[in-house]
Amino acid sequence: MKEVGEYSPNQLEERILEYWKENDTFLESLRRRKDAPPFIFVEGPPTANGLPGVHHILARAMKDTFCRYKHMSGYLVKRKGGWDTHGLPVELEVEKELNINSKREIEEYGIERFNQKCKESVFRYEKEWRAMTERMAFWIDMDDPYVTLKNEYMESVWWSLKQIWNKGLLYKGHKIIPYCPRCGTALSTHEMAQGYQTVTEPSVYVKFMTEDKSAYFLAWTTTPWTLLANLALTVHPDYTYVKVNNEGTILILVKDRLDILEGDYTILEEFPGRTLEGMKYYPLFDYCNPEGKRHVVILGDFVTTDEGTGIVHTAPAFGEEDYVICRENDIAFCQPVKEDGCFSDEVTPLAGMFVKDADEKILEMLDDRRLLYKTEPYTHEYPFCWRCDTPLLYYARESWFIEMTKVRDRLVQNNENVNWTPSHIKHGRFGNFLENVRDWALSRERYWGTPLPIWVCECGLKECIGSVQELEEKGAILPEHLDLHRPYVDDILLKCPECGGTMKRVPDVIDCWYDSGSAPFAQWHYPFEDQDVFSYSFPADFISEGLDQTRGWFYSLHALGTLLFETE
Ligand SMILES: [Zn+2]
Ligand SMILES: [Zn+2]
Repeated sequence: MKEVGEYSPNQLEERILEYWKENDTFLESLRRRKDAPPFIFVEGPPTANGLPGVHHILARAMKDTFCRYKHMSGYLVKRKGGWDTHGLPVELEVEKELNINSKREIEEYGIERFNQKCKESVFRYEKEWRAMTERMAFWIDMDDPYVTLKNEYMESVWWSLKQIWNKGLLYKGHKIIPYCPRCGTALSTHEMAQGYQTVTEPSVYVKFMTEDKSAYFLAWTTTPWTLLANLALTVHPDYTYVKVNNEGTILILVKDRLDILEGDYTILEEFPGRTLEGMKYYPLFDYCNPEGKRHVVILGDFVTTDEGTGIVHTAPAFGEEDYVICRENDIAFCQPVKEDGCFSDEVTPLAGMFVKDADEKILEMLDDRRLLYKTEPYTHEYPFCWRCDTPLLYYARESWFIEMTKVRDRLVQNNENVNWTPSHIKHGRFGNFLENVRDWALSRERYWGTPLPIWVCECGLKECIGSVQELEEKGAILPEHLDLHRPYVDDILLKCPECGGTMKRVPDVIDCWYDSGSAPFAQWHYPFEDQDVFSYSFPADFISEGLDQTRGWFYSLHALGTLLFETE
């Protein structure tokens, strides 16, 4: 007699999977829909240098459900797999394996060998990913995936960068990063988190004399060495500020912080912060005098009255917030500190001194000028290098940016056409992010990534290259099997059309979020091949990922869609 009632889901599922495999059921289902209207899905690419986790199964189950439903409703739902393969996390894993941890050591080891290791590592767990994907019955084409490290993919990325360049939206600026002056290297947020220590340092209240010499702006800082690079003072537009007579000295500060004053005072005037905008003042020192707008009061919403005086000393070279607000207000830029963390030669009395050792001398200099109001010990958490225990500096490094702030309105507008689930993300987490969008810091001073295709000449000419063919047209001699990665791309030299000199590529690679955001066009090697398939598959009908991708992949897709494919 035949046994009934023995239900084993495991065995049943495996039998079905076996049947699908034998009959090529997934691809056959696509063939049977080949003339059906398309429903476009884009796979957000994972990185296979780590094992898949349970959260990946959740995301894949969602993707599969919607795609199957649409297939069964009569659509052709192509499902191309994808792999994200570049970026710092890949490099850090390889550094760990090689037991090295600095850029200097990578270069000693050799960029070619290092990148080879990175390339091998990104498919390390492909087998496990495939097994997981097949076992959970997610139908996706993993035999013909897009891969961000392929030449064709990178060439499409280059093409897109050139479009942005041609629109004048790719520029060179500065990025403020946590930096170890001894190791000569930037630290990631993750690395920085490992090295906080509690320290007590002098905090200082300093007086900036107004242009008409009738009063002083009173400002406060916990890093006296950054005062050498002061170029602006920031006040809150809506807070109430006061002018006081403090035992014969006329001071301006926020009303809520009057208790920090020493001795008696009388209030002479009250006014909102915005009335101070544009007022000029004398610099504390004469060493930082770049061309352009400087030493002027600007407005910023980030000013608080929890500490200090409500007047924030602003040095664009040494703080992310300072840099952004100075750029928005067209303030000049000045970097009086060298890469080794020591003052540069123009700061004559401090030249060659490590900034963190200069506090005492700076306080003396301020006192000599009668610009020091008072000092107080200040205890706070300060980041130190986890490798060598040197205090980190927030330091301005040259960096390439995409000017997203110029397209803010269009980003916001295009979001209106996106159907978000859950719907609160649209004007919440994502919408807010777009309203406050900042320029995209695109370049990375690293090795394993899509090289930034900008070549520069000593004469100052810069060119953005948008294809391999363009390299050849500009006089490059290319090897037969060209790999667009570093270090090979670094050997490609172009002839300068202006002066006849030699143009060299900038050393940077780009943010890997730009790579994955290029998936809708780069997976088809657009516009070099397959223009048709791209034209009917953009924009996509459906993408689905975890909430953490809102400001990650969802943003980079939205940004590139807006920058590249919107007719104005
Ligand atoms: Zn260090
Ligand atoms: Zn030139």
